[in-house]
Amino acid sequence: MDNYIVSARKYRPMTFNSVVGQRALTTTLKNAIASGKLAHAYLFCGPRGVGKTTCARIFAKTINCLSPAADGEACNQCESCIAFNEQRSFNIHELDAASNNSVDDIRSLIEQVRIPPQIGKYKVYIIDEVHMLSQAAFNAFLKTLEEPPHHAIFILATTEKHKILPTILSRCQIYDFSRITIKDTVEHLQYVASQENVQTEPEALNVLAQKADGGMRDALSIFDQVVSFTGGNVTYKAVIENLNVLDYEYYFRLTDCILANNVVDGLLILNEILSKGFDGNNVITGIASHFRDLLLCKDPKTAELFEVGASIRDRYIETARKCNNEFLYKAIDIVNESDLNYRLSRNKRLLSDLTVIRLCQLSSPQTGLEDQKKKQVIDPIFSKQEAKQAPATNQPVTLPQNSRPATAPVTRNIPSTPQAAGNTTTASAPKPIYPGELGISISAFGQKKEVEAKVEEKVESLNERFSPLQLINEWKTFAEALTEEHHLKNTMLNCLPNLIENTLFEVVVNNPVQEQRLLEHRMDILVKLRTQLRNTHIKMQVRISEDNEKKLAFTPAEKFNLMMEENESLRRLKDEFGLELS
Ligand SMILES: [Zn+2]
Repeated sequence: MDNYIVSARKYRPMTFNSVVGQRALTTTLKNAIASGKLAHAYLFCGPRGVGKTTCARIFAKTINCLSPAADGEACNQCESCIAFNEQRSFNIHELDAASNNSVDDIRSLIEQVRIPPQIGKYKVYIIDEVHMLSQAAFNAFLKTLEEPPHHAIFILATTEKHKILPTILSRCQIYDFSRITIKDTVEHLQYVASQENVQTEPEALNVLAQKADGGMRDALSIFDQVVSFTGGNVTYKAVIENLNVLDYEYYFRLTDCILANNVVDGLLILNEILSKGFDGNNVITGIASHFRDLLLCKDPKTAELFEVGASIRDRYIETARKCNNEFLYKAIDIVNESDLNYRLSRNKRLLSDLTVIRLCQLSSPQTGLEDQKKKQVIDPIFSKQEAKQAPATNQPVTLPQNSRPATAPVTRNIPSTPQAAGNTTTASAPKPIYPGELGISISAFGQKKEVEAKVEEKVESLNERFSPLQLINEWKTFAEALTEEHHLKNTMLNCLPNLIENTLFEVVVNNPVQEQRLLEHRMDILVKLRTQLRNTHIKMQVRISEDNEKKLAFTPAEKFNLMMEENESLRRLKDEFGLELS
């Protein structure tokens, strides 16, 4: 621990191979050097601290190396390499455009460019934060960039590629540096720790890597901070205290309360967190991330996306088992809404409390999802007869259509001739309709008695045939008539139903939000369709399109569709002018 050297400097990579997390890019650079195909100008783009300047320096050293190794790396032994490593080489010039952005700064650089190197072949000019150059400086630089002397190579580095003029962009080979993954960061920190004889806990390094947000320089400087703070024993506890990170323990405890419908303890935990000085908004977004992580851990494949140590991942997976998807979607929705409202809220503490209360209510016996299996009562939907009260039973004969075993012949209620249709309609026994079947939960304040009474409703069974086109028409008619629910309207108009069996149709949506939206209004939609098409067996299933499940980036067309959903007037604009997205 004596003579502690700042890790970012001490462990700065000396070769392309030792650069962390940019494998594809360093390989391309190495190949370019090995094949002698060098450009005169490169543009390195990417977030701060991911290795742009480091790679530029290694690049400069490697192309000047007098005896490069077979794998394309610099030898680190020749005169030129040693000069580079000791930072006394004349073949490299670094200009920080953030502080030297005037025309004069660029002019003095251009003066130097003319002088050929004494040792080695190339002079490399690194211009950091090149987007900060003034307009005049840019223009002065452009000429040199157009006709550089053969010994000059420019490496421009920027965190903000979009601010670079097209005239510059078109003259550069562009390399995009990516954020360093948490896994790569943790591995590198582990390596540094072992070199420095520092004890670390994997969870501690994980939090640290998350805080660094993909930048290795930041990760190492936070690491140094924590090492000096803890005297060389980097524990999870020490890290969260030092970095002011909320212990994930709180989120797990809060989740337990929410699942147990325990409002009191939930509010106490929230109070405990806030009294530690954490900001309410951070807590709300923290809860959102926590639920998102739980959602990821529902599936082993997506659990891989969840960048944490194995022990904590197991704990997430275990908790995720206790939550169903619908609960998580709704929970995330509630927290997200609170996050949006937070800034505008006059009583932020109340909003935080309310968020916890609403989350706990998700599991309450009256409104919750847990107990949707215990069916609640609604008014008869299709009945022309008087509703009869009957004790609730779960015997197969009274099971709703949806509960029928999958093996039951689907065609049973689907007549092949109109004659048969008549027969079936009169012959089949009245089917009870359960709210749960329709995918709704009734907020049962004041309805508790009825709920407990569990009344069954008998409705007339209708089974008329309809065509896919009729279905789509009724679907559209329903959507067009929506005046309040713009989001639902647009989702429905964007995602049309597809009849996959006689009475079962599927709606393929683009994302979980749309899926949730349709499921929430499933009852309204189905009631309308069943009535209009005179068929009580109509069922709907919603599926997220597989393409979108995997890719996060949307195409322009998808983006536009999404924008249309959020903004009704965009759709009108498109329709009225007959616009097409090319
Ligand atoms: Zn060398």
